[in-house]
Amino acid sequence: MKLVSYETKGAAGFGALIADGIVALAPRMPGIASLRGLLAADRVAEAAAIAAAAVPDHRLDAVTLLPPIPDPDKIICVGLNYRDHVSETGRTVTEKPVLFARFAGSQVAHGQPMVKPAVSDEFDYEGELAVVIGRGGRHIEAADALAHVGGYACYNDGSVRDWQRHTSQFLPGKTFAGTGAFGPWLVTADEIADPTRLTLETRLNGQVVQHTTTDLMITDIPTLIAYVSTILPLLPGDVLVTGTPGGVGARRTPPLWMQDGDVVEVEIDGVGCLRNPVTAEAAAR
Ligand code: ZN
Repeated sequence: MKLVSYETKGAAGFGALIADGIVALAPRMPGIASLRGLLAADRVAEAAAIAAAAVPDHRLDAVTLLPPIPDPDKIICVGLNYRDHVSETGRTVTEKPVLFARFAGSQVAHGQPMVKPAVSDEFDYEGELAVVIGRGGRHIEAADALAHVGGYACYNDGSVRDWQRHTSQFLPGKTFAGTGAFGPWLVTADEIADPTRLTLETRLNGQVVQHTTTDLMITDIPTLIAYVSTILPLLPGDVLVTGTPGGVGARRTPPLWMQDGDVVEVEIDGVGCLRNPVTAEAAAR
């Protein structure tokens, strides 16, 4: 099942996508106000049954999509998690995963502009698989970790490279407003039999700039869940952004930066295609 968060007539909603129609779930599931709430209540199977028996309330193209989880407790990103990306950056593989944070306020939905900051001309794409936690937990064992996954989505970890490199800490370049594209929807985990067998492709203006399969992750999804949940509890709706493969714009000759008017897509087989225009901050205001 595909689950969406959206806005229509100024009100936020969440629902299930059936073909190109949305079954609104909030009015049919009193007490549940968001996808994060649906995951926390462990009522995804009930939502599927409701959606299967319902007539859609909205056409997909008649609503404004929101990031699938607009309000996660945390967004943990993984750096340098594919060997071809590690080698293009001139770094070496570390024994433990490279983690950094992104804040929810930096996210945009499918179709919304990714915003090139006015202070930088080094705005880069990073196509990634996002893992959304369904059942929370602390000290989760890797062997049990996939049972804690609620679903998967596409993510574009838009990166402001000069700000990323101001110091050894990545965060400033990784959480500018309007740079984290997330969507278009959440595909529930039951539809992804094996998250290590997905093909991920990033396209800039239709040109393929990144292509990988997710079996090439250095630290796999179960190990990431075990590692992060050792630090603090993972909560329903938390987002793990699992790293980008080689081909980023910063490591090309000449560099390939995202510009006002560009269109960037991240497509993952079985998950979907996240598509965003790029807008310069000055043009947006
Ligand atoms: Zn990234």
